[in-house]
Amino acid sequence: MKSVYDSIEVLPGIGPKRLEALHSLGLYTIYDLLTHFPFRYEDIQVRSLDEIEDQEKVTLKGNVVTPATVHHYGYKKSRLSFKIATEDAVVQVTFFNQPYLKSQVNLEEEVMIFGKWDALRQSLSGYKILGSKPDQDFESVYHVNKHIKQKTLLTIIQAAFQEYAEFIPEIIPQSLREHYRLLSHKEAIQGMHFPQSEAEFLQGTRQIIYQEFLLYQLKLQLIRYNRKKEQAGIAVLYDVKRLKEFITTLPFDLTDGQKRVVNEICRDLRELFEMNRLLQGDVGSGKTVVAVIAFVATILGGYQGAMMVPTEILAEQHYQTISELFEGTEYTVALLTGSTKTKERRELLLALEEGRIDLLIGTHALIQDDVTFHNLGLVVTDEQHRFGVNQRQKLNEKGQNANALYMTATPIPRTLAITMMGEMDVSVLDQLPDGRIPIRTIWTKSDKMERALEFIDQQLELGRQAYIITPLIEKSELIDLKNAEEVHRMVNEYYRGKWQVGLLHGRQKADEKDRIMHAFKDNKYQVLVSTTVIEVGLNVPNATVMVIQDAERFGLSQLHQLRGRVGRGSEESFCLLLANPKTENGKERMRIMTESTDGFYLSQKDLELRGSGDLFGVKQAGLPEFKYADIVKHENVLTAAHQDAMRLLSLEDFFEAPDYEPLRNYLDMERKLAKNLQ
Ligand code: ADP
Ligand code: MG
Repeated sequence: MKSVYDSIEVLPGIGPKRLEALHSLGLYTIYDLLTHFPFRYEDIQVRSLDEIEDQEKVTLKGNVVTPATVHHYGYKKSRLSFKIATEDAVVQVTFFNQPYLKSQVNLEEEVMIFGKWDALRQSLSGYKILGSKPDQDFESVYHVNKHIKQKTLLTIIQAAFQEYAEFIPEIIPQSLREHYRLLSHKEAIQGMHFPQSEAEFLQGTRQIIYQEFLLYQLKLQLIRYNRKKEQAGIAVLYDVKRLKEFITTLPFDLTDGQKRVVNEICRDLRELFEMNRLLQGDVGSGKTVVAVIAFVATILGGYQGAMMVPTEILAEQHYQTISELFEGTEYTVALLTGSTKTKERRELLLALEEGRIDLLIGTHALIQDDVTFHNLGLVVTDEQHRFGVNQRQKLNEKGQNANALYMTATPIPRTLAITMMGEMDVSVLDQLPDGRIPIRTIWTKSDKMERALEFIDQQLELGRQAYIITPLIEKSELIDLKNAEEVHRMVNEYYRGKWQVGLLHGRQKADEKDRIMHAFKDNKYQVLVSTTVIEVGLNVPNATVMVIQDAERFGLSQLHQLRGRVGRGSEESFCLLLANPKTENGKERMRIMTESTDGFYLSQKDLELRGSGDLFGVKQAGLPEFKYADIVKHENVLTAAHQDAMRLLSLEDFFEAPDYEPLRNYLDMERKLAKNLQ
């Protein structure tokens, strides 16, 4: 039985050499070949001269009226020229470096030539001579490489389509196909490769994009669905009254957003499935306290909690905050980092194993082998993008099917969230606590450093502190460091005898970085010159100014993250962007920064202005590669596919109805494939 997943070898005329060439393009199966779509189309309709613009690519038809001559010049260069009479005029035709075409040009015979029109000279610079009558008005142009030619590839694709068209599976259920008026997959593939009209390949494109998104979404949603269905987690049954009591002891009222998110999390905790939830919240939106409430629920339910953060200084910060919140309660919290002393560590680990510690906060130190919990029920990872999948996994494995909450202050646009993390549940904190004074952001020219230093001086006189962020010169940390050192020297010189200036950069050891951040926190430095290594979670409420040099080199999301280091206290804060953007796009980004402090809005703009590839934090996390679909350009389709996938899985008959069988088979095959790869 033939299948489109057969290897390309089965096609006639594919020898080892061609096979290798196709492999080098990433094409292995018939289906790979059938979905290796043209990246553009050439309009090869015969047109009349009066409707053609200068430099347009066109096809002209006419009789050859002068003998073809070849003129050789230079090294291996040649020019083939002749004239043709079209319906409108006599046109000069020239082919460069294709002398062999001469044999196809015979006096008084009709030819069709595809080339570029020069209106001034009334001449055509030929690309190719077409056969008598092309059966399409468009010619497909494929990505190829030096091992294979356009024409060869097209022939192979034609052969593949001829032999396998009837085996192209129809995966999208009839109901959805009708709803969106989509072509069948087979028609779509045909329309993409061999369109008879523009409408045909546009229709084809619609089907292909939707199918790509729908299948991807279904894969993710199925993971989520199974996790919930398996009911293999911990149901944390806590005393609701006591949790509410704890919440009333907090030094502030929860925002509506915090209340909503706490409810979402607590509902998951009570259920028997493993929670797998992402908490997205802008810088300063108050994620920590949400985590603390979830921990208290967990503790009340009889389990322990663990919170992993990327650096010691953040661990200490959280430890301090939480110790204060736990004052006067019976809940116990401990801190474990790389600097925990041996004896203290030994005692701590014992207490942890015996269940005398309710909540453990720490760095990577938490995932060391000898750290054993009594009964871990909730794992929280703060600044989750700073950890690798393995590290997060390791922490989860400290418990048995423990609930997991991942927190991030890098707001991800919705589109990206449902693409990258569709298998997770997502909670969003989209509002800041009341009473925050918005940071004032000002954009000035790059050469205004001196003015910036004067401004900083005024703020320092008031007892405040400042950050100066040095630019990314290039992808080399060493060169960025040199630059940061230079800025540090200059600033130090400027404030000599008056203010202390610290330097922070990526080449320092972790404990050295911690020491410097501590010193800044304790106001031993009034100014901190730093590369972008400055911690996202660093909380120094007394810092009220940030100067960012060459701000145009950063993306909006990253600028927003950096800016979030100020505006954390009760005084008004300022962010000065020093930038001379050269492009309109760059200017637009600076303007947007001065106008908005909304992280979600900024990350959405970043996505639009720079594309998903550049989005801060996203590259590391890895986006799936779609063959044809683009999450920015086809955002609407993605959203629709996302909703359709959720709806399909919630249908009672999804796992039985015949209409969904091809879809189920496909998902099954994918699942087996993924298993084999593991
Ligand atoms: P992030 O989400 O960036 O981690 P944090 O949890 O560090 O933010 O909170 C930032 C600051 O806001 C902290 O000082 C915290 O005490 C305060 N905060 C949190 N929630 C509220 C609230 N509902 N009302 C007032 N202040 C709050
Ligand atoms: Mg935080």
